[in-house]
Amino acid sequence: MTEPAVEPAVEPAVEPAQDASFDPASGERIGGVAHSTDVEVRHILDRANRAAPVLAAFSPATRQAWIADAVDAVLAVADELVGLARAETGLGVARLEGELNRMAASARFYAGVACEGSYLGASRDDLDGGSTLVRWNIPVGVVAVFGASNFPFGFGIFGHDVASALAAGCPVVVKAHPAHPRLSVRLGQIVRDALLNAGAPEGTFDVVVGFDSGLQLVDSPVVRAVAFTGSQQAGLALVERGARRGIPVFAEMGTVNPVFVTPAAAADRDSIAQGFVDSFTLGAGQFCTKPGLILVPAKHGFVASIAEAVSRVPAAPLLTAGIAAAFARGIGELDPHGAAASSDSVAGYQVTPRAIAVDLDQLTPGSRLLEECFGPVALVVEYDDPAAALAALDRLQPSLTASVFTGGEADTDADLAVLQLTRRVGRVAVNTWPTGVATSWSQQHGGPWPATSRPEATSVGGGGLARFVRPVSLQNATSIQLPPMLQPQNPWKLPRRLNGRLVPFE
Ligand code: NAP
Repeated sequence: MTEPAVEPAVEPAVEPAQDASFDPASGERIGGVAHSTDVEVRHILDRANRAAPVLAAFSPATRQAWIADAVDAVLAVADELVGLARAETGLGVARLEGELNRMAASARFYAGVACEGSYLGASRDDLDGGSTLVRWNIPVGVVAVFGASNFPFGFGIFGHDVASALAAGCPVVVKAHPAHPRLSVRLGQIVRDALLNAGAPEGTFDVVVGFDSGLQLVDSPVVRAVAFTGSQQAGLALVERGARRGIPVFAEMGTVNPVFVTPAAAADRDSIAQGFVDSFTLGAGQFCTKPGLILVPAKHGFVASIAEAVSRVPAAPLLTAGIAAAFARGIGELDPHGAAASSDSVAGYQVTPRAIAVDLDQLTPGSRLLEECFGPVALVVEYDDPAAALAALDRLQPSLTASVFTGGEADTDADLAVLQLTRRVGRVAVNTWPTGVATSWSQQHGGPWPATSRPEATSVGGGGLARFVRPVSLQNATSIQLPPMLQPQNPWKLPRRLNGRLVPFE
């Protein structure tokens, strides 16, 4: 008798984990991207680690040329990228084209900031006794970046954090956001190839996919800093995780950005009401700079005027099923009586904008009213006494930004509000809405905890590079040991401070 043949055991096919891609307008799945494996992430980090000292040794002008090539490569396929972004985010083509062009301009801006050189903080002192001391900022090493769902370009794969870290001389590994995974991978491929073709070392830039890959980045001893843009929940988890290794996590999150309308500004009621609604419904309210609460003088009809303007805004899709669910939950918490009227989802992740009137004395510390609800909703609060409104501003969580609408030059309520708000927010906008964030030297896009984890930092503007360098001193070093900008000939022609005096360049 012969033994029956034993069939070799067949391993069940295991589907690789994916970030699935969805169309927010219909909620239908439109593709997906496989998660990076543990081994792939380790190889990417090894390459980035090897690139770090090489990259740091190149001049800012050389890095500027690489970044310029990457920008050109991205712009050459702008239509394809906007198409991918539109399919995955439901944001309009005009909005996405504008954001892509601003991303390109910002990348060029950060490269220019590096070339200007002041971020290097180079200085030399000739000490008593003939010795010398120099100090300057060196790139920290590999930076991990977590982008946000709501700005697939601006805070994405080649957005503010990435471009400023590259300009400062740091290799970057970006964790793709699951709200736009196909865009992330394609954009990452274009940027990586363009940087390599331009002469940047292997490992200068890469992208990983998947939640666990993100954690692997933060836990890796190779990564020296993390830049994150997103929700408070995720930001705080990463801040705690980074703290275990003593690395900085620059978490740009967001709270409720207030608007204060002085009594003297009430004459402009209808234009303020319309501007407020335009601002908090822009991008379906998915802006970290969304004005989430407006304090208006009572008895001027603001509540009705705002309600009228909101009623004219159509439903719009939110970015993901998770954001849509959180919005429905948030509306229920902010307005328990009116929640049913608001949860009239049309299709996919679409929601109807809401303005919710609440009383001033409901703004108490710990109240849900003081927490961000991501999406097109804002609170309207009437006040009788401007002093009571200013006191309420002090009870809000510190925020990224705030606006004050004034009756003109002689409006002392406005002066008090501006002064008070500078102590609590990163940027105060006077007679304008907070939603636009210019990329320029004087920009501060940050704010006190819990709007961000690092109030001294900005994620937009010339100050952004400071997050990715650290100071070092050398005592009695020879010329050859000095960095170029502190060598006698100053070959990079950068500014430095010599014995306390700032010298543009010699
Ligand atoms: P999110 O849910 O906070 O996620 C951001 C990233 O973090 C994703 O890649 C996510 O990956 C990852 N993540 C989430 N939880 C994590 C955890 N516990 N540990 C490790 N990684 C984690 O993102 P979002 O939807 O883009 O956030 C919207 C928020 O961003 C809003 O609150 C808005 O105000 C804020 N925002 C702030 C700014 C600013 O400049 N300050 C700009 C834009 C948006 P997985 O999904 O794979 O888990």
